[in-house]
Amino acid sequence: MSINLRPYQDTMLGDVRQAYAAGRRSPLLVAPTGSGKTVCFSYIAANAAAKGNRVLILVHRAELLRQTSETLTAFEVPHGLIASGVPETDEAVQVASVQTLVRRLSRMKWAPTLIVVDEAHHATATTGHGQVLKHFADARVLGVTATPERLDGQGLGIEAGGFFDELVMGPTVSELVELGHLSRPVVFAPPGAVDLSGIKTVAGDYSKGDLAAAMDKPVITGSAVTHYRKHCDGAPAIAFCASVKHAEHVAEAFRAAGYSAASIDGTLDADTRAQRIADLGSGALHVLTSCEIVSEGTDIPRVSAAILLRPTQSLGLYLQQVGRALRPFPGKERAVILDHVSNCHRHGLPDDDRQWSLDSKPRRQRKQDDDADPVKQCSECFAVHKPAPICPSCGYVYPVKAREIEQVDGSLEEVKRIAREKAKQEQSKAQTLEDLQRIAAARGYKPAWAEHVYKARQSRQEQWRASR
Ligand SMILES: [Zn+2]
Repeated sequence: MSINLRPYQDTMLGDVRQAYAAGRRSPLLVAPTGSGKTVCFSYIAANAAAKGNRVLILVHRAELLRQTSETLTAFEVPHGLIASGVPETDEAVQVASVQTLVRRLSRMKWAPTLIVVDEAHHATATTGHGQVLKHFADARVLGVTATPERLDGQGLGIEAGGFFDELVMGPTVSELVELGHLSRPVVFAPPGAVDLSGIKTVAGDYSKGDLAAAMDKPVITGSAVTHYRKHCDGAPAIAFCASVKHAEHVAEAFRAAGYSAASIDGTLDADTRAQRIADLGSGALHVLTSCEIVSEGTDIPRVSAAILLRPTQSLGLYLQQVGRALRPFPGKERAVILDHVSNCHRHGLPDDDRQWSLDSKPRRQRKQDDDADPVKQCSECFAVHKPAPICPSCGYVYPVKAREIEQVDGSLEEVKRIAREKAKQEQSKAQTLEDLQRIAAARGYKPAWAEHVYKARQSRQEQWRASR
């Protein structure tokens, strides 16, 4: 099977080629989870190997090793694996677990011409990725990541002590949503009893021990169950928790509420973990809870909700978690994000366009998260969205403060009228019952609303025809 690329993937690869042609040695390709990064770098690896080059693909987790190998196999690209317990072979393309490769570096008998670094935000001087890149200093490098940002704010660029010399920007989340390659994220941030005061910051993020104590409370867990029932009852969901115990307690609460729920953590054997992930993928499990184990690289397209119960200062971790729910799947109309920890206020909405840089971020800017676009929260349904006069989820028309009315030189009624007009315009553009149903879903109306509007329209048309 030849590799068929989507048009934007073609563009992405063209931009990578252009970077090399312009004399760059180590571009970093930035593209969201779900954009098909593995397909793209498999394509590059296949082409490089066809020209007689040796290619090393670096991954840092067993799941990613398996996924990459499966993609290469599907594309009929012969490849070997460098992983513990796997015999070495001499194909031109090798997929390597970083941990295993680091141990074998000193006795490597060949050197790659190209190194592809998956999840390249881990590639810093002090990590295993860094050791490999330093060892093969003559190789060309292609970094690939959704979030070119390190937790400590240090940049990934050469000038900041990293390995990459140019950013190549792939499509944004909002572009992929428009193209139908990602589900539209809808964020609800129910108010809760989360109190992060007094929680220390360790190595750039909240101290895990403190977090578990702050989050593992029946009132917060109860709120998670209530809002899951309200916004995405029965949908396959992943809950991101602050500790292994916390994850177990959240799973217990969902089971007590009548859902099928389980937790996974690093202490379980690989088979049990794989089984529970498979159960979520088959629909046998409603909710899978975990402390970090499923944030990165776990690909279960059926998952249509992410329950955030672990506050993080890492934009990367937040986007990785949310990304688990954004994969498109037949019948999945939107991805529900239940944010109980204000991550969307801290980091912005999942589909905000972001300005990335290879440089280090100044400390102050990191704290304030200047990158985040302003968001508005509905007081009726707790949806968090881009600023708008009406809530796109439930249709609530925001009251306008007196001061703002003076500013816009109008009245409250005027603003309400404009909001109503906008809603009506959208409605009148809807041609079919399906269009109306989409509007109903987007506004959180009952499905009967669409039928009501549609029927009313048809009877008006009939009357009009009869009157002629
Ligand atoms: Zn609302």
